[in-house]
Amino acid sequence: MCGIVGYIGDKNITSVLLVGLERLSYRGYDSSGIAVISDGELSWWKRAGKIHELENTVKGLNIAGHIGIGHTRWATHGQPNEVNAHPHISGTPKVAIVHNGIIENYLDIRDLLISEGHVFQSETDSEVIVKLVEKYLAESTSLEHALELAINHLHGTYGLAALSETEPEKIVVCRKGSPIIIGLGDNENYVASDINAVIQHTKKIVYLDDNQIAIVERNNVRYKNVNGAFVEKTPQIIKWDSEAAEKQGYPHYMLKEIFEQPTVVRTILEKYVPSGNQIVFKDLRISPQIFKQLNRFIIQACGTSWHAGIIGKYLLESYARVFTEVDFSSEFRYRQMLTEGSEVVIAVSQSGETADTLACIREAKLHHFPILSFVNVKNSSMDRESDGVIYSHAGQEIGVASTKNYLAQLVCFLLFTLYIGRERGTITQEESDTLIIALQKVPEYISSILDKADQIKTIAEKYGFCREFLFIGRGLNYPTALEGALKLKEISYIHSTGYAAGELKHGPIALIDSKLPVVCICPSSKTYDKMVSNIQEVKARKGKTIVIATEGDTVIKNFADDVIYIPQMPEELTPIVSIVPLQLLAYYVALSLDCDVDQPRNLAKSVTVE
Ligand code: GLU
Repeated sequence: MCGIVGYIGDKNITSVLLVGLERLSYRGYDSSGIAVISDGELSWWKRAGKIHELENTVKGLNIAGHIGIGHTRWATHGQPNEVNAHPHISGTPKVAIVHNGIIENYLDIRDLLISEGHVFQSETDSEVIVKLVEKYLAESTSLEHALELAINHLHGTYGLAALSETEPEKIVVCRKGSPIIIGLGDNENYVASDINAVIQHTKKIVYLDDNQIAIVERNNVRYKNVNGAFVEKTPQIIKWDSEAAEKQGYPHYMLKEIFEQPTVVRTILEKYVPSGNQIVFKDLRISPQIFKQLNRFIIQACGTSWHAGIIGKYLLESYARVFTEVDFSSEFRYRQMLTEGSEVVIAVSQSGETADTLACIREAKLHHFPILSFVNVKNSSMDRESDGVIYSHAGQEIGVASTKNYLAQLVCFLLFTLYIGRERGTITQEESDTLIIALQKVPEYISSILDKADQIKTIAEKYGFCREFLFIGRGLNYPTALEGALKLKEISYIHSTGYAAGELKHGPIALIDSKLPVVCICPSSKTYDKMVSNIQEVKARKGKTIVIATEGDTVIKNFADDVIYIPQMPEELTPIVSIVPLQLLAYYVALSLDCDVDQPRNLAKSVTVE
């Protein structure tokens, strides 16, 4: 994961690098470092812990220099300590590199380099890169040439930025599998893992493609294919709402993002149902004929997006009558990809950079599957590499635990299902209209849950001391149970598991005693009665039940220790609304435990390593 930033120009070098790292910290935040060249001499500073540790170290040092690189790390190989932090430095004259990704064959390279006399400082996979660059610099004409020779040895993924005392006026970057962008300025240029790091300085962005190198100088950027010719690349002008990156008075991004959800639903409806009932996906770019004839959707995703995918499966099977399978990207990629020539792969990711999902897309393309991506971040790798895209229009999501984008993905899946259902003639225009009219009320429904934040806070404080939680649901509410459990464990570190309620009796019921809170997702639905029986089974064993139910349900309170009511609505919409109290529950439990809600330990938002 990790974030990379680099700058050449006249601005204060430490400030550009540190602010850039801060803005990339959702990509990883266990340690950080910067390297700067001043008067031809390379210096560096590294610290374990969050970026403010590095800030405290360098503030007051008045570091001079017009060129530098920085890194915020999410450790894959070696503990998050100072030695393992990037940049990694080697040689005389000195060279520095920062790396995002995993070098899978690093042990072999390391052994070889050690046998040649190189000495390693760190436990990271990344250090082999700087040693290789050092080795090849001795026999190369330029830093880019040395980097090219070095990366020829690497198996795995990398986004890289390199600096060398031999050529103190250039940063060289390259990528394979991990993103790198170049921000173009006036008499200055930037490099970074993504635009967040540079957007306050420039909106003119070049996206580097895999196996490309950029040689970034103050007034000139050259691009070439690895081991090949120079190439032209066209910058894109990015539209950006910088306000989105602020907390706007909320104590945490996560809370702000939860409260933005009514607006997100309205935005999606404006974008995709502009006339009030006809669904239009401008960037779908896959012919309706393919959707009419296909016999299978293959949804692949990770984490929260995978939960959205399961809801997508239920909807697509019920309304569009298409057999739909859902797999973890990390599994799908290594399974036998069987095709009858009439499947569409749907890849789901907030960032559009999720390494496992991106790798799946690439693999699936080799097998000639059409690829449709559901992404939030425009111009992300998945956006650029897919045949068609449905943007989730959630706006910038900064809290590491995804909230508003999950909800946005659910709305997009519902609209997509209605669109496909109409194309295939499996639903009538009237049925589609009815659901769209109901969907227009969802922002109001969500707001009514947000109004109950204090009630949910009280419940959270009541159970916050428990070390385990179980979440159960059936049908469309089962993925909600999974997602509710994931939110809680991500930010509060409480062990929580989501289960299909019918599975309770096949094992997890053994866990239930008077200390176990069981969150039961039980709005009005086809499986309501069965769900009530499951709740009674929990109560019979003295479990504590926190139930999400529909307003007007007078029965449920007999079996519930606490009830959070959601408004009445068609069953298909309930996952969009019933996740909101669970997000708030997770948030307030984490808060009561004094956890770092926006940057929980061990996690990073954009998972760019496999
Ligand atoms: N594999 C490298 C390390 O552990 C980089 C990890 C990352 O991309 O965050 O230091």
